[in-house]
Formats: sequence, C-alpha cells, structure tokens
Amino acid sequence: CGIFGYVGKDRDVAGLVLDGLKRLEYRGYDSWGVAVVTDEGINLTKQVGKIGDAQVNMPDSFLGFGHTRWATHGGVTDYNAHPHLDCTGRIAVIHNGIIENFSELRNKLLSQGHKLRSETDTEVVAHLLEEETKGLGSDPAGFADALRRVFMQLEGMNAVMALDSSSGVMVAAKNGSPLVLGYGEDGYYISSDASALLPHTRKVAFIADGQMLLITREGVSARDIQTGDPASLEVSQLEWS
Ligand code: GLU
Repeated sequence: CGIFGYVGKDRDVAGLVLDGLKRLEYRGYDSWGVAVVTDEGINLTKQVGKIGDAQVNMPDSFLGFGHTRWATHGGVTDYNAHPHLDCTGRIAVIHNGIIENFSELRNKLLSQGHKLRSETDTEVVAHLLEEETKGLGSDPAGFADALRRVFMQLEGMNAVMALDSSSGVMVAAKNGSPLVLGYGEDGYYISSDASALLPHTRKVAFIADGQMLLITREGVSARDIQTGDPASLEVSQLEWS
C-alpha cells in the first residue's frame, strides 16, 4: 500500500522512514514495518495496527525502507507485515500489488527447501532473490540484475523494492503501481506517493512502468526491466504547495 525509502547521509534512517510512512496514513492500512541496514545485517521492526504516534528504536543506518500493508494474501499478522526477509537474512523486500502466480512460485521454492515464514505473496520475492544471488558477494549491479530476473517471473501489477545488506544497495522495479524518486540534499528518497517527498525535496522522477532503479550512496541509475539496458529518468519539479 504505502512505500517510503531512503539512502543517504542522515543516520536516523528509521526515523525518516517512519515519518514518511505517517504521511501516507490517509491511504488506510492494517500493519506496517521498517527495515534498515547495519554492519550486523538487517534490523527489522514490524507490527499490526496504525503507526499513530509509534516511535522506533532502531540502530543508525544509511539505507532503509518501510511499508504500510493493505493485506490481500494472508491475514493481518506481524509475520505477514512487510518487510519480508530471505532465509539468510541478507535481503529485505517490500511490495505493493498482487503477484498473481505466487502459489506456483511458492511451491517451487518450498520444493527447493526454502522456509517461508508468512502467508503473503510478497515473501516469495525475498526467496527468489536469495536463489538468484547465491554466490554473489558484495555486488550492487549483480543484485540489481537479480531483481530484474526475479521481477520478470512475477505476474500482475506490482511495485517491488529490495535491500541488500551485503552490498548496501536499494533496488526497485515496477509495473503498474506508482513509485517516485526524490533527489534530496543529503540523499535519495523513494515513495509510492510524491506528497510524502515534499518535506525533503521537490526534485523528483516518476518511475515508468517496466523500469527499475539501483540506488546507492554514490548515485542512482535506471534500467529497462525487459532488456536490462540503461534507461533515462525524467526529472521534474513538484509544483504543489
Ligand atoms: N499483496 C501484498 C500483501 O498482501 C501487498 C499488499 C499491499 O499492496 O499492501 O501483503
């Protein structure tokens, strides 16, 4: 339902993300969660209910994202809230939309020995990424390519984002569900709704369907999901007051 992410110099990433999610509150949702990358791996908080005045006590980071969930597959539980992790805990995933072929993907993963901890369609993405990144060390471009291959296996209208704690990158891919990139003074922001970016920046790029992003502290690049070729981002200025 709602997505908010950040990569940059501000250390209080969890606070920034939580604040961003609170701005998406009007959309309605049943649970929420935040993940940040630390030297020890991914640190995760997720919870059923409204964010309201919730505060999170999470370690400093440079990279993280959060999600407010409107359940479509699997009940409203802490486990089913996003972000979802792979078996190794290296990768975190958030998702808007419905993965139409998720039971087929889930059965394949179960037969490969994956342990899925939730009932959601979303969690398959974390485990598919785990499969596609086996043997991959700290390699941002390799991780982005893994998301590209995984996203092409998904049917339906989806926006998917993933964090890789080994290479310290955030990737996003979409087809039908909105995502907006914000260029801040101190880093990059990404949200499902441009209005949540307004406190930080007015310089934005709306991600096109069929496009994906690789975001690191050093910069952002876009690619076409089908071909893997570099794609261009159309930067615009938000005029809203
Ligand atoms: N289908 C996913 C779920 O049920 C995502 C729902 C959403 O867009 O919030 O967890």
